Amino acid sequence: VVSKAANRPLTRSEVMARIRGRGNLSTEIKLASALRAHGVSGWRRQVRLRPWPAPEDCPPNVKKRRLTVTPDFVFWQQRLIVFVDGCFWHGCPLHGQAPKQDAFRWRAKLDANVSRDQRANRALTAAKWAIVRVWEHELEDDEGAVIARLKAALSVDPE
Ligand SMILES: [Zn+2]
Repeated sequence: VVSKAANRPLTRSEVMARIRGRGNLSTEIKLASALRAHGVSGWRRQVRLRPWPAPEDCPPNVKKRRLTVTPDFVFWQQRLIVFVDGCFWHGCPLHGQAPKQDAFRWRAKLDANVSRDQRANRALTAAKWAIVRVWEHELEDDEGAVIARLKAALSVDPE
């Protein structure tokens, strides 16, 4: 399998595609069908999880309304959560560069997304959830490897 995007800068149209990918819907659907194709069951999508004690480093406004996380996939029995992160919106190290135009505002917005992801990770970990995060480009480049990683995570009993 030749990697489509991982080893070179993105073209303009690829950047635009990733910007449009807001909400991760297409990548989520892609992972959902991959899970079905590989016989991985026991997951639910769009489950709203809340509340738990907010982490100490939460900004005050977040603390007030409590941290709510809607993971892309929840495996209740294994207490495992899977996020499929869009490369652009979630700051992928390979493809998360801010567009040149209006770069400062983009950077602030994208950094805020990354901070929110990190807060969610800490809160979920504190609540004894196991977390797997998958990049959009990993799913595009090697779906089989992603499924293998998830299966490995699911076979481990997180207690
Ligand atoms: Zn990426």
